[in-house]
Amino acid sequence: MKIRVGFGFDTHRLAEDRPLILGGVHIASASGCLGHSDADVLIHAICDALLGALNLRDIGYHFPDTDPKYAGVDSTILLRECCRMVREKGWDIANADTTIVIQKPKINPHIPAMQQRLAEVMGISPSDVSIKAKTSENIGFIGRGEGVSAYAVCLVTQM
Ligand code: MG
Repeated sequence: MKIRVGFGFDTHRLAEDRPLILGGVHIASASGCLGHSDADVLIHAICDALLGALNLRDIGYHFPDTDPKYAGVDSTILLRECCRMVREKGWDIANADTTIVIQKPKINPHIPAMQQRLAEVMGISPSDVSIKAKTSENIGFIGRGEGVSAYAVCLVTQM
């Protein structure tokens, strides 16, 4: 069996009056991510991990933020498309392991819903979607509540 791994990273600025959407789930928060799409930083990191696993460039290459078609787009649509590209190349998605770094709100209570949603979109089991949440200990731009980052690795397999 052949395996490949991909890594993804993303950061978005946080702003008041924006909804906070992480992993396809709306989370109650005083601020949300700014961006051209719905700015789902976790999904963007997973997309880049999937694309990276097959050396398919990155999310900005496939879904440019200069394209009005992607203004306010639900990032689950982008993730679905990345999964389709992986499978079209003949690979299966084995698992995703991710980390969100955000100072507040607390993400842990939302992790089961995010796992469920991402698993549905990716066509894999919730047990194959790991989501970890950390603060940045009040240090730096994340600690000041100015932004949020996410990291993801995805393994793909070919029989
Ligand atoms: Mg992004």
